[in-house]
Amino acid sequence: MHDSTKPYRGRFAPSPTGPLHFGSLVAAVGSYLDARWNKGRWLVRIEDLDRAREAPGAADAILRALEGFGFEWDEETMFQSRRNEAYHAALSRLQDQKAIFPCTCTRREISDSTLSPAGEAVYPGTCRMGISPGRPPAMRVCASEGVIAFDDVVQGRIEQNLAREVGDFVVRRADGQFAYQLAVVVDDFEQDITDVVRGADLLASTPRQILLQRLLDHPTPRYAHLPVATNRNGEKLSKQTLAAPLEINEAGVWIWRALHFLGQEPPVELAAGSTPDIWSWALGNWCTARIPRQRSIRDPS
Ligand code: GLU
Ligand code: ZN
Repeated sequence: MHDSTKPYRGRFAPSPTGPLHFGSLVAAVGSYLDARWNKGRWLVRIEDLDRAREAPGAADAILRALEGFGFEWDEETMFQSRRNEAYHAALSRLQDQKAIFPCTCTRREISDSTLSPAGEAVYPGTCRMGISPGRPPAMRVCASEGVIAFDDVVQGRIEQNLAREVGDFVVRRADGQFAYQLAVVVDDFEQDITDVVRGADLLASTPRQILLQRLLDHPTPRYAHLPVATNRNGEKLSKQTLAAPLEINEAGVWIWRALHFLGQEPPVELAAGSTPDIWSWALGNWCTARIPRQRSIRDPS
């Protein structure tokens, strides 16, 4: 469980699939203020695991935007693309414990199977019995029976029956790429993260990450899942939904909007203030209890 005697260490972990947009700014602002309010450290990690989804130059653009917005991060930026050795080591540990097995199912074979209450295909366990020869295998973790539960700082008690709602999940894809679920656990441990503040679109992934933490004997950080910003159609803001990139010369207004989105009630006249003024107000007034306990909110702008 979370050890509150350890010094606070938080992080912002964007995937470089496009420039910083309002949705990712909210996660950056929330994790940054929470870390600073708790006199902790705040780290940045570029989650560039999936080279195929990466937009050229996006990692640089995100880092420059963070700088331009006045974020100050501690320690060196971590890049997941340079961390394969650590992920391999974790995979071997899971293998030694017989917690994973190879799987040669195609997407199609799995999508024909049972659906979870959330409408996602649950892996039916086919390859636990043996795999089809000749196909390169993915590696899956056996989803444990029973419920994994945690107390989210914003969303309250969260429970998930992994076996029923997710099934055995992939930690290394058939093409050799490590899955986000494994990488994030290995890296949060490596960076000694005590507090994860991120978007509620990842809430359903957290029980998978907690299972991996238990198998790898890592402590479980505290979690705070912020509401995510959606567009008029209820879609999460992202490069795919054409969320507008943020202009650095409007940094103050965007930070003000992120504070407002997070329920912090920044004074209206502050919106016209300088970026340092807005930060100084934000750093002095951060209050997690004011964050709306919702998984998504329509972006008012
Ligand atoms: N890289 C993930 C994203 O951009 C966030 C991962 C995390 O915060 O755990 O959605
Ligand atoms: Zn399979």
